Amino acid sequence: MMRTSGFAVRGCRVAWTRGLAKPMTRGVLAMIGQPARDFSQGPLDKDAWLSRKGAWDDKDLGTLMNANNAWRERMKTANPNFFEYNKIGHDPKILWIGCSDARVPANEIIGEPAGSVFVHRNIANQVVSTDFNAMSVIQYAVQYLKVKHVIVCGHYDCGGVKAALTNLDHGAPLENWVRHIRDTCRLHQKELGAIEVL
Ligand SMILES: [Zn+2]
Repeated sequence: MMRTSGFAVRGCRVAWTRGLAKPMTRGVLAMIGQPARDFSQGPLDKDAWLSRKGAWDDKDLGTLMNANNAWRERMKTANPNFFEYNKIGHDPKILWIGCSDARVPANEIIGEPAGSVFVHRNIANQVVSTDFNAMSVIQYAVQYLKVKHVIVCGHYDCGGVKAALTNLDHGAPLENWVRHIRDTCRLHQKELGAIEVL
């Protein structure tokens, strides 16, 4: 039986099972050449951040492909067998269910390398019983990959949650999706109100 506990990771509110592996190396963003934008190495410049200078929106696909090629070469140098071993398959022990928000990259914020985290993300990190996508991911992770830990990770300032808490009609299918949050709030006000803010 899995036991869950609350945890905070860089502003990300997490509920996960105990016994998570210790951080190892940087995560999936490194696969497309993120080291140049490694914000953990120094303070952010607010003006640059707000103006999105150097952000993804000014990069074309060729730039990303070049960054991926550079990452591949770095990996081959540092770990000559990395790709050979990955051809064998993956054996992740963590299932991550998180928000699609670009600020909450799964591997990145828990310091796990490629191959260690099986990931499902959607707007507002929802697990809806009628969502065959999420249900298939969970079934595959538990039944076949036999993951040991399931992390459901929310985060502050979630646009999906904020959208659900307004009276605006966002149009289908987005409106249908955020409605699950409205229903959860309406039906479980007492339990939600009792959750301790970390
Ligand atoms: Zn979100």
